[in-house]
Amino acid sequence: MDHLEKLCLHTITTKPWPIETAAKKFRAAGITGISVWREALIDRNPSHVGSLLKEEGLEVVSLVRGGFFPDRDANRRRDAIDQNKRALEEAAALSAPLLVLVCGADPRQSLEDSRKQIHEGIAALLPVASDLGVKLGIEPLHPMYADTRSAINTLKQANDLAEKAGSDQVGVVVDVYHLWWDPDLEKEIQRCAQLGKLFAFHICDWKVPTNDFLNDREIMGRGCIPLSRIRKWVEAAGFNGYKEVEIFSNHYWQTDQDQYLKEIIEAYKHNS
Ligand code: ZN
Repeated sequence: MDHLEKLCLHTITTKPWPIETAAKKFRAAGITGISVWREALIDRNPSHVGSLLKEEGLEVVSLVRGGFFPDRDANRRRDAIDQNKRALEEAAALSAPLLVLVCGADPRQSLEDSRKQIHEGIAALLPVASDLGVKLGIEPLHPMYADTRSAINTLKQANDLAEKAGSDQVGVVVDVYHLWWDPDLEKEIQRCAQLGKLFAFHICDWKVPTNDFLNDREIMGRGCIPLSRIRKWVEAAGFNGYKEVEIFSNHYWQTDQDQYLKEIIEAYKHNS
């Protein structure tokens, strides 16, 4: 079981399972961490879910996800900040120490304008995040999502933004799916670790060929991401937190989830 000590699964990975089922199955498999997607909390009281996860012996690693700050319309930007405040309250109720931010982008304006609004959104959230003791993790997304999902597309941009926020509450999330191609990745991993801002590490693989650029991620070791190399960089930088398996896959969601979970665990032991 030792091998699984730092293994965390995102609830989205086994999306067909309600969170109560996922918690039991994860724990029975020897997994000790869980990152909760907000979708998994629908029609549930977050503090009850937090207690249930604790009873199952699972540590809540993060709540996923807040963000989506940019919008050309100022009213909608204010709504986004309110939504994020609610997400922070949910995170606190769950005892999640981190809210992961998918920062957003509005294709009707420049990426620079979107980045400015992301900075403003994070600044507006900071007092609430500090009061609640929940950190904010900026997750850069692959540039193919720069149209609507995130104007933060490299770890350098995420590090710059986290630094600019000027608070220990704000850091970054390294997801291999989004960053494996980046020639500056090792350098920027070292940089964020030195700044004390490497908050989380997400793993999966890039399937070749990829048939759907959102929901066709692969189990570790079955695609082209040099995962063990990136993991070594992250560990060499001093990160000793959870390795979080985050796989969106129309394919795997249609398969037997128990079998899929077994395959994820085998892959974690041998390819992560
Ligand atoms: Zn991620």
